[in-house]
Amino acid sequence: MRIQALTDKLREERTLSDAEFEELFAILSQGASGPCADQVRICNDIPQAVCSPEEAVLYGAARQVREEYYGKDVYLRGLIEFTNYCRNDCRYCGIRRSNRNAERYRLSKEQILDCCAQGYALGFRTFVLQGGEDLSYTDEKICDIVSSIRSLYPDCAITLSIGEKTRESYKAYKDAGADRYLLRQETSSPAHYRYLHPEELTIENRKRCLADLKDLGYQVGCGIMVGSPEQTLSNVIEDLRYMRDFGPHMVGVGPFIPHRDTPFRDEKPGTLKDTLHLLAVIRLMLPGVLLPATTALGTIHPVGRELGLLAGANVIMPNLSPVNVRGKYLLYDGKICTGDEAASCRSCMDRRIERAGYRTALVRGDCAGFAAE
Ligand code: SAM
Repeated sequence: MRIQALTDKLREERTLSDAEFEELFAILSQGASGPCADQVRICNDIPQAVCSPEEAVLYGAARQVREEYYGKDVYLRGLIEFTNYCRNDCRYCGIRRSNRNAERYRLSKEQILDCCAQGYALGFRTFVLQGGEDLSYTDEKICDIVSSIRSLYPDCAITLSIGEKTRESYKAYKDAGADRYLLRQETSSPAHYRYLHPEELTIENRKRCLADLKDLGYQVGCGIMVGSPEQTLSNVIEDLRYMRDFGPHMVGVGPFIPHRDTPFRDEKPGTLKDTLHLLAVIRLMLPGVLLPATTALGTIHPVGRELGLLAGANVIMPNLSPVNVRGKYLLYDGKICTGDEAASCRSCMDRRIERAGYRTALVRGDCAGFAAE
């Protein structure tokens, strides 16, 4: 089978030529012939989740590779969405500056520490602080929050996801105790980047940020939205090449989902299948990478995250934000888990992970082979 040859080559050489990538994605996007055994186990009677024999080959190889690096472990990250104020106006994002309908909120340091306390008691050993680019959190405030978490929870990893900053700011956060940073490049193509973002944001600065973060010793996550408006296959191939050259420790890949108060309100969402294909390809290209099955994937399909795990993902990021603000951090329409308490999210996630044939690992969950200097 041609899919076997392409999968083997990707696994061995960790890349393909443009023509081979195009062929691989064309084979994968051909009609699915029925649910494959692994998917049936978790999907029961959900008929949309079908997987062709070709996809089964790719996903099987991706799972084998993830198990070589991480066994059956799935790492949990406690996500604290601490502000939905943002100075940026990204055209896809529900918390963009010009969305007057967004009900804005900020969490105080005490509220953030409460989330961490609750998360720690539930077994989380990584906290992810994510927010819009909210200048009211000065570097001093961020450093104060990070160093408090660091001294209260020395055995936990602290991840920041707060956008584009200067190298000096990134260094200050690192010195205060941050370990990891998530900053998706969103798209590596300058023209596509220009289409998705306002004038003042550039792909050059995004990549500069990622390079600085890596150089400063963070475990760094980049990534893209699948099926964002005007995204082409050649954009995706360019992203894969960028990721391979950059060598991230984490890759965040989830479907684009429209938000009703953005210019992209009428655009089509990214698909389950395209997202699963990309997760599996990334697992084969970057075998030891931390790869989340995202909330957006769980939003477009009832068992999207489980299917993500079966395609090579090894991280899940349950929400630890206080329930009264969850429904306000709406990047896209229909976001799941906006009403659940952290404890019920945690046990729901355990069940989902088990159903997919994996187990929750209550550890920091660093990137395989990552050694901080
Ligand atoms: N401000 C930080 C940044 O720029 O990295 C972190 C917050 S930002 C809202 C987190 C991620 O949400 C973005 O990297 C983007 O990929 C994702 N996102 C935003 N709008 C989305 C949408 N409509 N559909 C899917 N993902 C979206």
